[in-house]
Amino acid sequence: MKNWKINSWRNYPVKHIPEYPDQKELDGVLSKIKDFPPLVFAGETRHLKEQLADVVDGKAFLLQGGDCAESFAEFHPDNIRDTFKLILQMSLVLTYSASLPVIKLGRIAGQFSKPRSSPVENIDGVELPSYLGDNINGMEFNEKSRVPDPKRLFKAYSQSASTLNLIRAFSHGGFADLKKVHTWNLGFIKNSPAAKKFKDLEDRIADALAFMDACGINSDFNRRLKTVNFWTSHEALLLPFEQAMTRVDSTTGEYHDTSAHFVWIGDRTRQLDGGHVEFCRGIENPIGIKCGPTLKAEDLINLCNKINPNNEKGKITLISRFGHENVSKFLPKLIRAIKKEGLNVIWSCDPCHGNTIKATTGFKTRPFNSVVKEVKNVFECHQSEGSYAGGLHIEMTGQNVTECTGGAQKISDQDLSSRYHTHCDPRLNANQALELAFLISDEIKK
Ligand code: PEP
Ligand code: MN
Repeated sequence: MKNWKINSWRNYPVKHIPEYPDQKELDGVLSKIKDFPPLVFAGETRHLKEQLADVVDGKAFLLQGGDCAESFAEFHPDNIRDTFKLILQMSLVLTYSASLPVIKLGRIAGQFSKPRSSPVENIDGVELPSYLGDNINGMEFNEKSRVPDPKRLFKAYSQSASTLNLIRAFSHGGFADLKKVHTWNLGFIKNSPAAKKFKDLEDRIADALAFMDACGINSDFNRRLKTVNFWTSHEALLLPFEQAMTRVDSTTGEYHDTSAHFVWIGDRTRQLDGGHVEFCRGIENPIGIKCGPTLKAEDLINLCNKINPNNEKGKITLISRFGHENVSKFLPKLIRAIKKEGLNVIWSCDPCHGNTIKATTGFKTRPFNSVVKEVKNVFECHQSEGSYAGGLHIEMTGQNVTECTGGAQKISDQDLSSRYHTHCDPRLNANQALELAFLISDEIKK
């Protein structure tokens, strides 16, 4: 990559990267992390990019989901298992209805740092620096906890490594075997309409598998049903950490950010001449770009050309997030510009970030209906522009939280306080996420 160095991003302005009180301590931590094992391997990243190329061609669908922000407090094997189960369930719903392979990409094993709308938080007249994610500072509202602490990076690395270890075990150790689809159910959603629909799907799949077994379908095929590929992703926000995790692949001499298979550039840090874009243009990983209402078509084209000068398929995923009422105002222009330039991209839809509101009870929430509407509007828009709506990017959890209103459980503003656990944005709970998968599968069939 022309004039790119692992640290060339430092010559550009960067937003949303904190000032650490003790630079020496930060440098010491980063120099240790630089020698830690990679979390993912270059060959895996290449494999994912190949799979993403199929999405560009309309031959696969991308499902990306997980927490807004992972936290040290919610770190538990059951939580990882439940998010994993839910993504498998959603993928199965989508695969079955669209007859397309679904690429499973978690916002997991490294999704810690957050860009915040305000650098400070004010509660009852007390003002403190905002919480920036568990790998930077603490959520507790006191002065000490809000000071960026480099040692948190060790804990985040270790949490990411053990999360990934469990995911690898789930993916390849028998848990994801399609013949065990009935074990993917999450106990607490058993009686919901989405869970009942899923049970029907399970039965149909069990019948199909029994039929194939009876026909003596060969063992190689059976082996393929036993494992899944499950990839990891996060926002490449905290560049000092991403730089420390970036390594040269000995087989090709190329740079890979080994902190995750896929990283994305947030809507607040996608400035063409900013450090985040500079960093991302030099790494081989597939890159997501969040596209919000302020993104101009011309800037989008320049961003794509800068990050993907060879127009490689699978390299760029554009994640639109306009808010359900704004899709038709902003998305067609971007689609037309990309088409006119002949750029290879995946169009994914994030129906969460443009639909965040404050509930009457004061909680940050997202009405499930707005989320569904954004997805519908985005699908319709791609259909009329002749482009492929190839992905979904959502904030969700396998837990039975009450953070987004609506859905089959009819969560109200008053219900939000009951199980509001997120460290940042409100997530769809397991019921709502599965319901969304069924609704999308209807859209895909159209
Ligand atoms: C996010 O994905 O958590 C996020 C901050 O999104 P955006 O950059 O689209 O606002
Ligand atoms: Mn978020």
